[in-house]
Amino acid sequence: MTGIEGEAGTPDTPVIEFRRVALTYPGPPPVHAFRPCDLTVHRGDFMTVVGPSGSGKSTFLNIVGLLDAPTAGTYLLDGIETGALGDGDRTALRGRRIGFVFQAFHLMPHRSALENVILAMVYCGVPRTERPDRARAALQRVGLGHRVHALPSRMSGGERQRVAIARALVARPSLLLCDEPTGNLDSVNAGTVLRLLEELHTEGMTIVLITHDAEVAARGLRTVAIRDGVLRERVTVA
Ligand code: ADP
Repeated sequence: MTGIEGEAGTPDTPVIEFRRVALTYPGPPPVHAFRPCDLTVHRGDFMTVVGPSGSGKSTFLNIVGLLDAPTAGTYLLDGIETGALGDGDRTALRGRRIGFVFQAFHLMPHRSALENVILAMVYCGVPRTERPDRARAALQRVGLGHRVHALPSRMSGGERQRVAIARALVARPSLLLCDEPTGNLDSVNAGTVLRLLEELHTEGMTIVLITHDAEVAARGLRTVAIRDGVLRERVTVA
């Protein structure tokens, strides 16, 4: 039993645990994109990640999101050692436990909001008959209960991102992994999306959010900075 399809670990099991995790692109010449790092993200944390372009943020996101395997160290997601998993198990673990929110939304333009959210459940083991109700509930949760049949092309950027958040939440993941979620939004829509993320955090969701924007980063409970592949906890001075 790998635990991939099972419940999340105990409340004390970190959602993310890095033990000397690193990623080097082989080159030549080799690029040390992510330097050896110990990191713990507990259940209910809200961690923001900042760093200049080329610093290693995408590399970090790809490792955490099980899109790339580290070349050194151990990554435990919900207490599950990810290095030992084959491709199928990695994909299953990702689908079951990580909800992704991207800057560019990545919705299917010719499918309604409801269909976009329903389709996200195809790969995460939710029985077909439960999918429509689960999708409606997720859209209701993000304040779009009245827009379930709308096409993304008829929605504002903020509404599209809320559909994307509903899609990310519908599998009840352990972690919401957000990559510049407000990067394509004006300040009003960005504010709505950030308030929604804060509410979800208050309800217990664990959030890791990557951003260029210092104001967005300040909304996290904690911030880590990546520079030249080195991740450091940022200590704020009050
Ligand atoms: P960021 O997301 O902060 O802009 P990245 O994680 O994309 O940074 O990149 C970190 C470093 O790794 C950069 O020096 C980049 O050029 C390098 N890099 C990224 N992807 C590859 C790759 N596939 N092969 C070699 N080097 C890469």
